[in-house]
Amino acid sequence: MENKFDSEKVIEEFESLTKDAKRVQIETLKKILQENYEAEYLKKWNLDGRFDPQTYTSCVPVVTHKDLEPYIQKIADGASYPVLTGKPITTITLSSGTTQGKPKFVPYNDELTENTMQIYRTSFAFRNRAFPIGNGKALSFIFGSKQFTTKGGLLAGTATTNVYRSAQFKKTMKAMQTPCCSPDEVIFAPDFHQSLYCHLLCGLIFHEEIQIISSTFAHSIVHSFRTFELVWEELCSDIRTGVLSARITVDSIRTAMAKVLKPNTELADKIYNKCLGLTDWNGLIPELFPNCKYIYAIMTGSMEPYLKKLRVYAGGVRLLSADYGSSEGWIGANVNPDLPPEMTSFAVLPNIGYFEFLPLTSIDELDSIEPKPIGLTDVQLGEEYEVVVTNFAGLYRYRLGDVVKVIGFHNSTPKLQFVCRRNLMLTINIDKNTEKDLQLSVEAAAKLLAAEKLEVLDFTSHVDLTTDPGHYVIFWEVSGDASDEILNECCNCLDKSFVDAGYVSSRKVNAIGPLELRVLRRGTFQKILDHYVGLGSALNQFKTPRCVGPTNPKVLQILCNNVVKSYVSSSFC
Ligand code: AMP
Repeated sequence: MENKFDSEKVIEEFESLTKDAKRVQIETLKKILQENYEAEYLKKWNLDGRFDPQTYTSCVPVVTHKDLEPYIQKIADGASYPVLTGKPITTITLSSGTTQGKPKFVPYNDELTENTMQIYRTSFAFRNRAFPIGNGKALSFIFGSKQFTTKGGLLAGTATTNVYRSAQFKKTMKAMQTPCCSPDEVIFAPDFHQSLYCHLLCGLIFHEEIQIISSTFAHSIVHSFRTFELVWEELCSDIRTGVLSARITVDSIRTAMAKVLKPNTELADKIYNKCLGLTDWNGLIPELFPNCKYIYAIMTGSMEPYLKKLRVYAGGVRLLSADYGSSEGWIGANVNPDLPPEMTSFAVLPNIGYFEFLPLTSIDELDSIEPKPIGLTDVQLGEEYEVVVTNFAGLYRYRLGDVVKVIGFHNSTPKLQFVCRRNLMLTINIDKNTEKDLQLSVEAAAKLLAAEKLEVLDFTSHVDLTTDPGHYVIFWEVSGDASDEILNECCNCLDKSFVDAGYVSSRKVNAIGPLELRVLRRGTFQKILDHYVGLGSALNQFKTPRCVGPTNPKVLQILCNNVVKSYVSSSFC
């Protein structure tokens, strides 16, 4: 499989798995429980050798990360007996932790690597059928996070780092004709600024061979090309002289880059002139990477706000949105790559985990009743659910915290659209606004800025309860100086664009105070990114937290310390 990629065979396997998703789910659950029934956690629920879904869902409770934390901690501390899995866990994943403010520990094992490869192969097979590529390279903005050892001697790093370090990953990427153009020393560099610079440099050196530009999440591609706008002349100078910029101080990167960087005046001139010829960096990608067939990354959910800028860089190059997964494991593949990113859905792979779905109505009542999720093949078209995962690495009936909508079926497996993170909710009293509501409100207000040729570079929000009544605060980083008049209008527009009935009625009677727009100093979101990377996150897994709450005091402090102007809405006056 890894030596020669056979798209049709992969698609055939996927078709067969999804035709009988119910049976495959039953078998997958049985396999997971057979492998792990001796673990302390499963013993506690008295399955007594019964591995069917009915027994499982009636004996084992639906849990959150908090419930499993003591077990995961035991593993991290080096417990010598099976805690969550039959075979010992040797690696811990650090989830990006953007919602909680600090990374979470999640168990990781080889089966999760294999699931990841299955997802990669499946979506690549469909992608390659629609948009075939030849032999070449990928400019992949991928970054290994810091790895550290837990008290019990287990290696801990981000999920993507665990994947990139696996031999399987290299084999699969090679088979998919898209090996990364940068050396490993660049991917795993201890400093992501240096790593990013060298990814860009390698991309330019191999520019004619680049067929795909990719990352895990679209944010890193936009971030990388925004950096390119600042350093392109320096990159050209490195290529002209064959001498790597003094900004690269890590010896291992310098040694690795010395093997690919040679003086090349012709190439430097070519790139320099192409850059000079661009207007506002429109079409940067096709100009510099003439053989790039598509741009590939997760572009849904909290990545949607970056699409506008990505489309500027992409010119006419197609954007293909990637699959759906998390540090806790993958869930579904994008098997309709021809659809625009905004319409992407994910067909669940029924053999990579046992999946349940919590209807949204019962989520609201969760505190009072026992949550009752339904099986993968019982979900209803058009309904929204929270995903509950049982995986091969010791998570049982684990609430992922994501809300998805069923928008169709591929054979008998559902196709899910990502809706939002459940706990990212702006709420003061009866109002409920999700990440998506915030995004829509910001999009509406940003149109006023666009008229001034300015853009919102990034944004987040906060519920301020220190005032009476409490109010929403929206933080914006803007690409240039906007007038007070325009920003006042933006602030009013933000307030009016939250159309949730609970919000509107509370605003009308002043049970929620006027919305506040706080404009941030340029570079504030870079500081937030640096903060997360310092905690062990990786740039390619970074997602700007869209709502910063009290559990995230450090980020709130960065935001509050960098406010340059603030505006209070006069809507509803
Ligand atoms: P991490 O903390 O890096 O493991 O991030 C996993 C989370 O990223 C998921 O739980 C989702 O909230 C989000 N995510 C992953 N894949 C997608 C996708 N295709 N579309 C939207 N959001 C996604």
